[in-house]
Amino acid sequence: MYNVKSLKAEEFINHEEILETLEYAEQNKHNRELIEQILEKAAPKKTGRGVECAGLTHREASVLLACDIPEMTERMYELAREIKQAFYGNRIVMFAPLYLSNYCVNQCVYCPYHYQNKEIPRKKLTQEEVRQEVIALQDMGHKRLAIESGEDPVNNPIEYILECIKTIYSIKHKNGDIRRVNVNIAATTVENYRKLKDAGIGTYILFQETYHKESYEKLHPAGPKHNYAYHTEAMDRAMDGGIDDVGLGVLFGLDMYKYEFAGLLMHAEHLEAVHGVGPHTISVPRVKKASDIDPNVFDNSIDDDTFAKIIACIRIAVPYTGMIISTRENESCREKVLGLGVSQISGGSRTSVGGYAGYSEDERPHDTEQFDVSDQRSLDEVVKWLMDGGYIPSFCTACYREGRTGDRFMSLCKIGQIQNCCHPNALMTLQEYLEDYARPETKAVGEALIEREIENVTNPKVKEIALKNLEAIKNGQRDFRF
Ligand code: SAM
Repeated sequence: MYNVKSLKAEEFINHEEILETLEYAEQNKHNRELIEQILEKAAPKKTGRGVECAGLTHREASVLLACDIPEMTERMYELAREIKQAFYGNRIVMFAPLYLSNYCVNQCVYCPYHYQNKEIPRKKLTQEEVRQEVIALQDMGHKRLAIESGEDPVNNPIEYILECIKTIYSIKHKNGDIRRVNVNIAATTVENYRKLKDAGIGTYILFQETYHKESYEKLHPAGPKHNYAYHTEAMDRAMDGGIDDVGLGVLFGLDMYKYEFAGLLMHAEHLEAVHGVGPHTISVPRVKKASDIDPNVFDNSIDDDTFAKIIACIRIAVPYTGMIISTRENESCREKVLGLGVSQISGGSRTSVGGYAGYSEDERPHDTEQFDVSDQRSLDEVVKWLMDGGYIPSFCTACYREGRTGDRFMSLCKIGQIQNCCHPNALMTLQEYLEDYARPETKAVGEALIEREIENVTNPKVKEIALKNLEAIKNGQRDFRF
């Protein structure tokens, strides 16, 4: 029985409810009147408190996703752009993954880290290696990392992860500083989530991979990850452990995308209903080629147009949730989806354990890689490319450091208030990047952009302080935030 508030995976991600949703969506996919109503409901509305969006239920959003009327799809894209602009502006937050260990006891059939893969060398970073990796990442200009690890209670116990987090935060190389560590590790206990919270993590990220239980069990034939309920209920345990920013995701290509889409939104609705706060982010990875993995064996792969539509529909359905795109996607695909709702992207990424330190920009180790990276540009190239496209690359980590997380973040975001600080924070952190790490041509483009964009800070007091801080950054001071 479907119950959004249930704490049982099979009740809040209910198979029958998803099937009924898909049937409803199929029956209504050409129902123009209903589609108009749904688009109208989702449109940003001006209220006394600012701009607000109602979002959509999984059923309503599934109708949009199923609709194949070209003119309506265009309307969805326009609406997605409008919502993105209202809550995220033209800022794109930058991050990089840091792979700690590829030891893994699971047998995920799509992942090269699976236990039976004898081709891949197993590697786990020592604390000295973590230090070297972090210095390399700081030297690129990164301030925000997502740490990644296989699941192995002997080689990568929680104590190891905690030690790495402590090392990462402790390193201050030149003007470098990792200010937010997000964590993407396997589902764990409330007690361990509490330890991660106490270690000062940003978002806890865990991809569901697939919401389809039967497929899930086949795709994870052995190991602790085989347990669908334990995996699906992980975010509830994370929130019980005090982590209020959690990141959901589906690995697109494993099962039918419409099923995954409905499941993903049901998961978001569940978190909101039970914990009063929805997911902080949603990631949309697609299966890629990797050691011992041929993505073509998964017959649910989606083309770029469908991918873009999924992203637009997520943006419309959960307007306040950040959306993340990794370097699994190439430049042209990233370009296409940026405007439709993506708010965070990685740049200069290496998906191998120890892939940053000691390698030049063009050299990349493939031996321990988790997947092929499609966007192989350096961080600086990505930063310049974003600015050339009218976006503001942001290295800001202020919300989390100011305690604006969970429902506090959401309630500010919901009334458009986040923009009062996000915009100047993005400009100040970009200025830091330009001073410390940018190539001359990137710096020139960036300075012109900051000069233009500072005019869009409407509050005169905030603008005055931001201008003063920008000057101070040029004179060597760092780490200002609103
Ligand atoms: N071991 C943890 C877990 O099981 O959740 C951490 C995450 S793993 C390092 C990060 C994510 O990479 C997985 O959740 C999966 O969605 C994704 N992934 C695995 N194999 C992939 C592939 N071949 N192509 C693209 N993404 C992949």
